[in-house]
Parts: sequence; structure tokens; C-alpha cells
Amino acid sequence: MPLRRGGPSEEAAGAIVMLCYAVPKLIASPANCRSAAASVFDRVGCSMSIPRTLFAEEHFQFAESLDRFIALEVAPHYERYEEQGFIDRELWLKAGAAGFLCSSMPEEYGGAGADKRYSVVLFEQPARNAVQNLIGLLLHSEIVAPYLLHYGSEALKRQYLPAMARGEMIGAIAMTEPAAGSDLQGIRATAVRDGGHYVLNGSKTFITNGSLCDLVIVVAKTDPGKGAKGISLLVVDTTMPGFTKGKRLKKIGMKAQDTGELFFDDVRVPVGNLLGDENQGFAYLMQELPWERLQIAISAVAQAEAAIGWASRYCRERKAFGQEIMNFQNTRFTLAEAMTEVQIARVFVDRCIELHIKGELDATAASMAKYWCTELQSKVLDACLQLHGGYGYMWEYPIARAWADARVARIYGGSNEIMKELIARQLP
Ligand SMILES: Cc1cc2nc3c(=O)[nH]c(=O)nc-3n(C[C@H](O)[C@H](O)[C@H](O)COP(=O)(O)OP(=O)(O)OC[C@H]3O[C@@H](n4cnc5c(N)ncnc54)[C@H](O)[C@@H]3O)c2cc1C
Repeated sequence: MPLRRGGPSEEAAGAIVMLCYAVPKLIASPANCRSAAASVFDRVGCSMSIPRTLFAEEHFQFAESLDRFIALEVAPHYERYEEQGFIDRELWLKAGAAGFLCSSMPEEYGGAGADKRYSVVLFEQPARNAVQNLIGLLLHSEIVAPYLLHYGSEALKRQYLPAMARGEMIGAIAMTEPAAGSDLQGIRATAVRDGGHYVLNGSKTFITNGSLCDLVIVVAKTDPGKGAKGISLLVVDTTMPGFTKGKRLKKIGMKAQDTGELFFDDVRVPVGNLLGDENQGFAYLMQELPWERLQIAISAVAQAEAAIGWASRYCRERKAFGQEIMNFQNTRFTLAEAMTEVQIARVFVDRCIELHIKGELDATAASMAKYWCTELQSKVLDACLQLHGGYGYMWEYPIARAWADARVARIYGGSNEIMKELIARQLP
């Protein structure tokens, strides 16, 4: 059955829910579904005043089943993941079997043909459930897979996408180098054509899924003299001779998300592994970046909403000077300000999502969303941590982890300073 434009076929949507962790009978009827669905988003204790109009009932069901998956399969192991610095491969396989990987990819390539609202749920629920470190699975599904889908040959799509959807192969994307991050044109990795191969040399750092990955989209110069117009994207299989992985990097947050270094020493990459056309890589990156930046904004707002819920509940339970902390005007004003700003962010981000679904989100709006929402995320999480007092500094409290995890959002996906540069280019 062909997929409906802008959304999954009913068959595909059904398949997603069937694949997912059993949705309780409670929500089998549409009316029950609505109330259970509402509880999914109310659970964080931060009901928004302006109702969201983005989701249909099937998205709420999907959120419910994702919550169950997180509770059963992720939460019990999360501390161990943080200690070891990566998420078990077994979880990738379970997420694949449950339909949580590459769900927006077409069915013919192992996905579910799901519309982007499902992807939004995938970004929001880990933040709400304080397991933000699942971000590597999302990068795999919503950044790496789309490059293959949009620019890969039929052979590449068939080789990698179904295995990625099953969680059998893990994807990464490698742009950043030790000496070049924001300034992508300054990268030094080179891919020199030699017959039917490119010979790839260079190194990359800060790569998400860097130690677990089986395939990497590598950004390299195929024509170093041409700046941005000499950059190409190559799919590198990590079994290729000359490819090595460096150490897993220790971070101040996102501790369960594996971040590493990659090295390429005369790696012979078949010409067929080029994504799109030679020297067009920079244009492809610019094409994909708005959705990637919006993803960061989506997570940021969900995490800020969750933090308000955690802080609000804590402040009603904790007493000082014979009364609830919530009774202090400072507490109420702090949370009221946070709720107001997060509500504003929510409306803006949901509108950006609608525009993205229609194919109308421009790079400037995506940069605004990424910059403003992640600054707000940091501010709100810091204020909510403060309201927890000393307990807010303890790792066992979700607010502590969320605060540490959130810091990177202002840096990766293009730093917020770069976002402002991009926005400023559109000044009248
Ligand atoms: C946890 C984590 C995961 C990551 N995952 C990936 C990944 O999967 N793949 C990948 O390729 N990369 C990844 N990155 C890298 C990330 O995208 C870069 O760190 C980011 O783009 C910034 O680059 P940089 O670190 O080289 O900083 P730099 O570019 O050196 O910047 C340093 C400072 O200078 C500022 N600056 C730079 N240029 C300007 C300018 N023109 N105007 C004003 N200020 C400027 C920056 O904003 C920043 O504050 C990850 C990073 C982290 C921390």
C-alpha cells in the first residue's frame, strides 16, 4: 500500500503500534486512548495552557508504548550504561525489533514509513523519562539514515537501511575533527580518487556512536582547493582496512552516550559509497541541518517541561521553615517564569515541526529554534536544580543528570554562536 504523503498509511501506522511494546487494553478504544494519551504528556506534571495540536491518537499510543519500552528495557540498566559509557548492543536490537529505530524510513527499506510526528515522540519521551542518553539511537535513525535515503544509491540503501532498522548495524556521522568543528570548510580529511576507490585519510573526534558504529558517513575533501565546493560524503564501513576507532571520550554529561574518535589511514572506499555527487557534500549537509537542529530544539523543550514537573513536585514535598518550599514566592515565581517561557518555546517549536512536515521550514527558523530553546533549556534546568537544593546536585536525581546532559545542546549541531551568525545573515 503506498504511503500517504506527509503521513503513514493506516496499515503502516498500525504496524508501528503492533511492533511496539504492548499498548495496554485500557487505551484500545479511541476515547480511552485520548485520556491515556493525555496522561502520557501530563505525567511530567507540566500541563501546558495552550493545547498541542500536532498529534493524533496513534502518536499518543506510540508515546505510551515507548514509555513502556523505556521503563522495562532502558531504565533498569541506565546507570550501568552511564558507568560503562555506552548502551548495550542488545538494547539496539530490542529497539529495532520494537520498531523504534528508523521508523520514518520507507517500509521497503525496513522502516515503517512513519510521519515525522512519530520522530518527534521519539525525541520527546526519552527527555521526559530522564533517559536523554538515548540520543545516539536517534542520531542513527533521524540523521544518519536520512542521508542514506536522500543521497545514497539503491544498493547502499538496501545494504544498510534494513540492518540499521533492525539495530544490527549502528550508524554515525563524522564531520568534526580535532582542529575543525564550527569551521567545516577547515576540515583536513581527504578522499583522493584512485580508480574505482577513494583513498581516505584523516581523523575525526567527538563522534556520537563512535565506538559502537558499523558504518560512518564521513565528511572529507575530494577537491581541497575548492573550499566548501570540494567536500563530499562517503559511507565508510568500519570493517574496511585502515579504519580504526580511538578511545571512548569521558564527558561531563550524556555519559551513557558513546562518543569517540575515528582514524582513517589509506582506507580504500569504493566509489559506489559516495553519497550523491562528488563535491556536493556541503550542499547536502546544509540541506539536512535544519531538521537536525530542530531535533535538538524538540529535545530541549521536552526536557525543560520535564524539569518543571520534577521541580514542582519536589517543592510541594520538601519543607523548610515549617512549610512547603512551594509556598515561598520565589519558588512560585521561578516556576511561573519557567512555565511561561517554556510554553512560548513549545508553541514556536510545534509550529516549526508543522512547517518541517510541510517541507517549508527554513534554515533561519531552525537555527532560531536550536539557539533559543537550548539557551532556555539550560536556564530552566539550572533554576529547577537550584530549587532542589543539595539534592539537585546528586546524580540520583533526574534534575542533576538532565542539567549535565543539557549543556552540550548549546555546543553540538552547530554552536549557538554559529546559529546567531546564520540568523544574522537574514537581517533586513
Ligand atoms: C557530546 C558531543 C557529541 C558530538 N557528536 C558529534 C557527531 O556525532 N558528529 C560530529 O561530526 N560532531 C559531533 N560533535 C561535535 C560538535 O558538533 C562540535 O563540538 C561543535 O560543532 C563545535 O565545534 P568545536 O568543538 O570544534 O568548537 P570550535 O569550532 O573550536 O568553537 C569553539 C568556540 O568558538 C566559537 N566560535 C567558532 N566559530 C565562531 C564564529 N564564527 N563566531 C563566533 N563564535 C565562534 C564556538 O561557538 C565555540 O564557543 C559532538 C560534540 C559533542 C560534545
